[in-house]
Amino acid sequence: MKLDEVRKLLDSWSWRLLSIIGKIQVIKSLAISKFVHLFTTLPTPNDSFLKELETLFFSFIWGGKGDKIARKIIINDIENGGLKMTDIRSFAKALKISWIKKVWDVNYQADWKRLLISDRLYWNDVWLLNKRSLSLLACSFVENTFWRNVVESWAEYVQETVEASDILSQPLWNNVFIKIENKSVFYKSWYIKNLRYVNDLVDESGVFMSPTELINKFNLKCTFLQAYGIICAIPSSWKSKIREFGKRLLVVKSENIERLFKTKKVTSFTYDSLRKSVATQPTRVQRKWDKLLPSPVEDWSTYYSIPFLCTSASKLRSFQYRIFHRTIGTNVLLMKMGIKDHDDCFFCDSKPETIEHLFWYCDRIFPLWNALAHWIRSVTEIEIEFSLESVLLGYTNCMPCKNAINCIILVVKFFIYKCKMEGRNPDFAGIQSYLKFNYSIEKFACDFALQDKILCKWKLMKKLFCQ
Ligand SMILES: [Zn+2]
Repeated sequence: MKLDEVRKLLDSWSWRLLSIIGKIQVIKSLAISKFVHLFTTLPTPNDSFLKELETLFFSFIWGGKGDKIARKIIINDIENGGLKMTDIRSFAKALKISWIKKVWDVNYQADWKRLLISDRLYWNDVWLLNKRSLSLLACSFVENTFWRNVVESWAEYVQETVEASDILSQPLWNNVFIKIENKSVFYKSWYIKNLRYVNDLVDESGVFMSPTELINKFNLKCTFLQAYGIICAIPSSWKSKIREFGKRLLVVKSENIERLFKTKKVTSFTYDSLRKSVATQPTRVQRKWDKLLPSPVEDWSTYYSIPFLCTSASKLRSFQYRIFHRTIGTNVLLMKMGIKDHDDCFFCDSKPETIEHLFWYCDRIFPLWNALAHWIRSVTEIEIEFSLESVLLGYTNCMPCKNAINCIILVVKFFIYKCKMEGRNPDFAGIQSYLKFNYSIEKFACDFALQDKILCKWKLMKKLFCQ
């Protein structure tokens, strides 16, 4: 079974000391790929399967110790405080949606498609329907789970109808907004005579036809009242939008479907849109930061992007990610978790070891930042003013060597944390040699394609390391 396969795979990786980002890369490149075929060609597995799979992924990420950051945050984009972890449900839905392009595309011929369309007369228009009608319609596909999944996934994806052209393109049938005797209807004989969309009810200037005009135009076999009924059933808000629009469409269209045709990578495009609709921002921890900093943060996205611009090392990026989300193992946090019986700072032993204290306020640490600024100034003539924000979140001043400064800050913070974990005191000579070590690793370990980028980043700061 697939789940066992994934469990074994992740187990085989779990003994390596990978960072959160490294683990997400393993999941994305090795585990998720096992499900592409399954999710594309078979009905979506039930929720307990998806839940178990998700649990496997996240317990791998957190080393089996329970989630430290909400899943809905981790799946978000980098600039929104996430790490772009795969949302398995959105992924399964996006793979189902990839079929819709094939159904809709007249140039795509296949046996399954002919069968599908002959089986369901109405099939062609389903994809134009609004969200609510689609969800309702999906329930009627009891006999075919696969296509029900496709309709359900599409229902989640489609954007709501707002423009007059979208309204005119709405199918008349099975539409929850078009009700006769309080329910949506499907008049097969009218459908066969090509009376299919709201657009078919109006004349060239966007005016609704009279019942007699409608009966004559489509050669309907019905009473005046029946024809009147369908015209009356159109919501008045739609009618006024259409009146303003003042014309009939030459062809009905759907922005939702057009978007599929505009992109070559349908799955990743729809996946992104589905993922974004469920992802959330880490607002709680942001509020906490706002209380601790001298002034509230106005633009989190700039900070969140910094570790991804200033270094390519997953270890350093993950470390900063843990600082952003305040999950770094300070003694204050460890005491809260019941792991330590005191919260005193490891270095000074006199104040509670919060993140702010450990990396900035501590009497043993603060002078190191001054020494660092002094060293940089004396070697490169670049003036840097460190602050609580720039040290903890990132340096945002507009400077040509911003990425290098941020890289230095990050490496120094990592060094401080490393010293605490190894039970020793950091000194400035140690910081200098650790920075040099990091520089040489970046320079020699990166692949050839990145060489230029690295050299450019360190251009103004190179003197620090090559004397
Ligand atoms: Zn201290």
